[in-house]
Amino acid sequence: ILLLGIETSCDETAAAVVKNGREVLSNVISSQVALHAEFGGVVPEIASRNHLEKIDEVIRLAVKEAGIGFSDLSGISVTVGPGLVGALLVGVSEAKALSYALKKPLIPVHHIEGHIAANYISHADCQPPFVCLVASGGHSHLLLVEDYGKIKIFGRTRDDAAGEAFDKVARAVGLGYPGGPKLEKMAKEGNPDAFHFPTAKMEDSPYDFSFSGVKSAVLNEMNRKKMLSEEVHVADLCASFQENVTEVLSEKAILLCKDLGVSRLAIAGGVSANGKLREKMQEKAEKEGISFYSPKIILCTDNAAMIAAAGYYEWKNGNFADYSVNAYPSLSLTEG
Ligand code: ATP
Ligand code: MG
Ligand code: FE
Repeated sequence: ILLLGIETSCDETAAAVVKNGREVLSNVISSQVALHAEFGGVVPEIASRNHLEKIDEVIRLAVKEAGIGFSDLSGISVTVGPGLVGALLVGVSEAKALSYALKKPLIPVHHIEGHIAANYISHADCQPPFVCLVASGGHSHLLLVEDYGKIKIFGRTRDDAAGEAFDKVARAVGLGYPGGPKLEKMAKEGNPDAFHFPTAKMEDSPYDFSFSGVKSAVLNEMNRKKMLSEEVHVADLCASFQENVTEVLSEKAILLCKDLGVSRLAIAGGVSANGKLREKMQEKAEKEGISFYSPKIILCTDNAAMIAAAGYYEWKNGNFADYSVNAYPSLSLTEG
């Protein structure tokens, strides 16, 4: 089965062709990062307009690079939510048009199910059941993938998503947008033990996250130093922040594996590109005899290969859409 994947939920215009959910034939990503950088974040209006300008070219390139023709496709899978409504609509409309013109089935995909499915591409032996830590720009979930397309959520963030905290701290210390990768780079020059920022204790729900406390602690430390006209060690702040967040994420992920007796653990979403997080997860998993999976870096952040991979399993479960399907900006992750 050859699926075209389309992803336009945020600021990447992406299309990919994936065979049987696991083999990537092409993966085209047109990033708008440079366009939004001067505004310090994604501007929805600019995002939708740019998706419109790029989408046809990106799709054509994906099909061409896959070495196939449009008629060879078995179906079109597309991100229907969550995300920016105007941005999503570009992908959804395009997918509907292609599906109608080619007479191929349309497969709706949840963006986060896509992030999770990025693991299927990188690892042939990554199969449910497994625990997955989803840490992206808008989500922080700790969940169990019981079967393809069947998940159970055990933990979520009470406030900021992990990636959002990275972005906010990066902006506050003057690193600009997009913050995650820049903060990681800066942290390499710093001492992770320079500051011991607080970690939220969640007595009642040990799998939940909260990142607003550590974020505020970093900002307060910055402001305190500035008020005293002392030099701010940005690298130390970054390293200590990253140490705090990656420790919490990896600890809780391992805890859930142990509590459920599950011996496979995966990570997904933009923050899973973070080297420190990957390192900690790998180390802790190894110690507990847990197999650890992580997507290739390019598949951690938004792409369409992951959407086609997730689409393949939706296909197998018979989840198709008709032309009444819409863009759903706050689509929630359904358990079942
Ligand atoms: P969502 O997937 O929740 O809808 P999104 O699509 O905007 O949000 P992703 O593309 O999955 O988010 O990931 C982007 C996020 O990942 C940003 O917050 C970014 O700062 C973070 N990120 C990317 N690379 C790294 C890194 N190396 N270290 C830490 N964070 C990173
Ligand atoms: Mg993005
Ligand atoms: Fe994403």
